[in-house]
Amino acid sequence: MTVIGTVPKTGDAIRTRIAPAPSGDLHVGNVRTALYSWAFARQHGGRFILRVEDTDASRATEDAYVAVQEILHWAGLDWDEGPGVGGPYAPYRQSERREVYDAAVAQLEAADRVYRCWCTPEEITARTSGKGKAPGYDGFCRRLSYDQKAGHVGDPYVLRFPMPPGATTWHDLVAGDITVAHDQIPDFAITRSGGAPLYVLAAAVDDLAMRLTHVVRGNDLTSATPRQMALYAALGADEADWPVFAHLPQVTGDDGKPLSKRNGEVSLRWYRDNGFLASAMLNYLALLGWSLAPDRDVFSVEEMVAAFDLATVTKNPARFDVKKLEAINGEKIRALSEPALAAQVRPFLEAAGLDVPAGLLEAAIPLVQTRMARLTEAVDLLTFLFVDEEDFVVVDHEQLVAEVLAQLDAAYAALEEIGEWTHTAIEACLRTALVDELGLKRRVAFGPVRIAITGRRQSPPLFESLELLGRERSLARLADALAEIRGY
Ligand code: GLU
Repeated sequence: MTVIGTVPKTGDAIRTRIAPAPSGDLHVGNVRTALYSWAFARQHGGRFILRVEDTDASRATEDAYVAVQEILHWAGLDWDEGPGVGGPYAPYRQSERREVYDAAVAQLEAADRVYRCWCTPEEITARTSGKGKAPGYDGFCRRLSYDQKAGHVGDPYVLRFPMPPGATTWHDLVAGDITVAHDQIPDFAITRSGGAPLYVLAAAVDDLAMRLTHVVRGNDLTSATPRQMALYAALGADEADWPVFAHLPQVTGDDGKPLSKRNGEVSLRWYRDNGFLASAMLNYLALLGWSLAPDRDVFSVEEMVAAFDLATVTKNPARFDVKKLEAINGEKIRALSEPALAAQVRPFLEAAGLDVPAGLLEAAIPLVQTRMARLTEAVDLLTFLFVDEEDFVVVDHEQLVAEVLAQLDAAYAALEEIGEWTHTAIEACLRTALVDELGLKRRVAFGPVRIAITGRRQSPPLFESLELLGRERSLARLADALAEIRGY
């Protein structure tokens, strides 16, 4: 017997897919799967397909269907076939493909490869739970007599598929050779009561119908593979037309358990909304199981596509490390052009209710570009510049009061006299007034001015900030701070 999947499939015929179930936000683990599938297809000039697995009507929502597409677009994982773009095997939404599954079910019934099962979940649990009992369905209805079956006419049933005798061995591109003995697999349901297809059937039928050459997915689905291969065979598909499988290791949280809401943030949308760049997310997700080179953590998606190879994906679980993601995000932020960074930052400032006039943000970008690990930090750093005067609050107020009144007095007096309002002139003026004349150490000399002007102890470079804010607003803020301290 040849091992399934050992004959390599290459070239522009390569077809990969991501098959999300739209029941909520797309999980970063799914996005890594999508990225690997996409990069593999792109590298070979093949096609990447989005198939939406929404057969579970109790969980799938229209909002999630739209959101999945939106967030994949944001990430830049464009699909060649699927919702919105169509393709030769449309529709790509499983809820619109019922007749395809019904035809497959009819074929399996006609070939006598499935049987009706009338057991309720409670009956199955009662018979199979307890020490020493094999888990899963026990084949009860397979053994019913003709008369017993006749007694069920009209009752709701599911269809079950009994595995043929033997074993399945396949060469998994990531996990290596895997063998599963069929007697380990209980007769599994392929439809719900009422006839709607279950995942195991719908995915198998579609992977054949859509001529997928490679199925890349999480190894939580490894156990579905021998079942789906048995379905391919039962549906009469030629082994050469079966996809090759690559099961990826799990993404875990800090505790080593699969990444979930309990041990981390899981939705790609959360990362987008919290100031991560798509390029940083793809770069970081690529590293969860793969590396470009031992000493290269930061790379572009084009570099990844050129070098990606499923065969070099690790078998070991990959730990999701937000600190590392932030470090990569900071690097990607620093590598952006100033206009590009301004465009990324603007929506966050506007979402914070700030009015961002054209020009001022672009001028402020060089002051903050090296100080951010997330785009959202621009809001804290730059609020002082965009806030209306009546809304301006000194966030670090206690600190302000504690600093020396004389420093602000001296700064005010000196700045009032200044000729031209440029950061170099401002710097020279404040150095003379505070360091030379008041004898303050450089490290502490400008703290109170910084807080009075920006409201915070941490800010963009002070002198440039003063310049951008302008003479009038700067002096007014110093005056306000002085008045406030005097009245304290
Ligand atoms: N729909 C499945 C999921 O969202 C993936 C199915 C597959 O990749 O075969 O987990």
